[in-house]
Amino acid sequence: MVNSSYIGRLAPSPTGLLHLGHARTFWIAQQRARAAEGRLFLRNDDLDRARCRPEFVTAMIEDLRWFGFAWEEPMITQSERIPLFRAALARLHAGGFIYPCACSRKDVQQAIAAPHEGAFNDEPLYPGTCRPENLPPDSRLRSPAAPAPGDGFNWRFRVPDGETLTFQDGHGGEQRATAGHDFGDFLVWRKDDVPSYQLASVVDDADLGITEVVRGADLIKSTFRQLLLFRALGFAIPAFCHCPLVTDEFGVRLAKRHDALALRTLREHGRKPAEIRSAW
Ligand code: GLU
Repeated sequence: MVNSSYIGRLAPSPTGLLHLGHARTFWIAQQRARAAEGRLFLRNDDLDRARCRPEFVTAMIEDLRWFGFAWEEPMITQSERIPLFRAALARLHAGGFIYPCACSRKDVQQAIAAPHEGAFNDEPLYPGTCRPENLPPDSRLRSPAAPAPGDGFNWRFRVPDGETLTFQDGHGGEQRATAGHDFGDFLVWRKDDVPSYQLASVVDDADLGITEVVRGADLIKSTFRQLLLFRALGFAIPAFCHCPLVTDEFGVRLAKRHDALALRTLREHGRKPAEIRSAW
């Protein structure tokens, strides 16, 4: 029964089999949605063409159903929503929030010296090489045309250097990070013509009216980037709840390579979802 305004989502990426860590975070997401008598969507984060595979989409749906998840149909598939992301990119450009970047991933890695490494290590701090004011006066990147399909540029969001951002996390309480220090200018669109996770996630969360984002603690740093995107695009900001990550017996975060803890393997070994959950 739906009688509240709560809307949540489960957002797996079909790059491998779902494991216990996903199940645990998603279970918390489902419980929070149920406790609020709200709705829950399933979002298929399949934008990374090189890593996502259709057979993992099929497997993830089967494994989620087996475990006891239920969501609103139809599933949301990000690769079918490119026009929505492109419209948001155009708005970011019109608002002066983004600039084209010709740096390769390798350039960025090499240009980043250890002392500038931020508190978060998910991606190196971008040194600002292609910020318009850092380019030679004759560079064609200084006054680029609006983003266009196939323009071959990475587009970066320019973060407000020195601004400290905060949010109240439903699990960890107050979180804070400083733009330009803990994280730098980040990609919103890739030169192979794919929206970045940051942009696609924000646009989908806003479009679906998500009121609370429940996901793993490894994405806390992304939340700060996303707060800037919500603000730049004029979208309402949802609540956030970042769940502690499940680790293996050595304290290593579960990854797709932990096949023994894939939901599929557990099912094949006769384990039951209720029994798995009772260990949490
Ligand atoms: N698809 C993303 C992942 O698997 C999670 C996205 C999110 O919850 O915002 O890491």
